[in-house]
Amino acid sequence: MKMFPDLRLRRLRISPEIREILQETNVRKEKMIMPMFVDERIKGKEEISSMPGIFRYSEDEAVSKAKEYEDLGIKSVLLFGIPKVKDELGSQAYDESGIVQRAIKRIKEETNLIIFADLCLCEYTSHGHCGIINGQTVENDSTLELYAKIARSYAIKGVDAVAPSGMMDGQVARIRKELDTNGFKDTIIMAYSAKFASPLYSPFREAAYSAPSFGDRRSYQMNYGNFREAIREIEEDIEEGADIIMVKPALFYLDIIREARNRFKYPLAAYSVSAEYSMIMNAAQNKIIDLDSVIKESTTSISRAGADLIISYFTEYIYRNRIF
Ligand SMILES: [Zn+2]
Repeated sequence: MKMFPDLRLRRLRISPEIREILQETNVRKEKMIMPMFVDERIKGKEEISSMPGIFRYSEDEAVSKAKEYEDLGIKSVLLFGIPKVKDELGSQAYDESGIVQRAIKRIKEETNLIIFADLCLCEYTSHGHCGIINGQTVENDSTLELYAKIARSYAIKGVDAVAPSGMMDGQVARIRKELDTNGFKDTIIMAYSAKFASPLYSPFREAAYSAPSFGDRRSYQMNYGNFREAIREIEEDIEEGADIIMVKPALFYLDIIREARNRFKYPLAAYSVSAEYSMIMNAAQNKIIDLDSVIKESTTSISRAGADLIISYFTEYIYRNRIF
């Protein structure tokens, strides 16, 4: 074996040009997905205070923002809805004239963006949980029927991909069956397969007014101490018919992303969540770090771990400021 002083790895870092041609991971910004909040209760737009630079948009504003994204070169968005009225069953989530359904239809009509739409109940239920409540528990099987209705209502409006995020068992299979039996064989399912119960979601809860009114989501979202179980969750989704698998959050879970990349041949998405954005933004605003450099490093690390698609609140910034 060749050793120092014959072996000199620093040779490969000797100049910016050498470093550039030898860089192994290059982020392709076309693979980034911009999350968008469409809010039925507002006119215009409102900034989310814990996520500087990220807004909730009214339906009209969301459509014009989507056009702006398309002009910038962004390829895809992930929609979340905030309804005017919430109830026990989250009925606005599957209302064909609900806020997300209207937004899907109009953005599809007016742009060529690929539309992913988050599929869950927590933004729509009065209690803020992701399913039907029975006492203090979230019922799995009855919840699946509502997820199926949401999927159909999105597909009717022309969504490209539904993204079930509720972590109920059997959700992917139930949604696939609903889509197939209603003539939507080509609608993609991007499954939030390994979604961990993470405190990093708290800015999102402010954004979507979706904090649970009692308890927490640890009986359905995963324990962040578990690695093997994450692989089982992904296997379950693949067995059930997921087209794209996902790990969420991203930065604290790069080991899970890497393992999923090594094991599965499926397209893999990673969701860099709200607090990942807020932590970087806050540190940059307080002059602790340089924003552009850290966006570059953090996004490259998610890509290096093996993610194909990266859902990131920095997507718009990355395009605007030519970070990649
Ligand atoms: Zn949910």
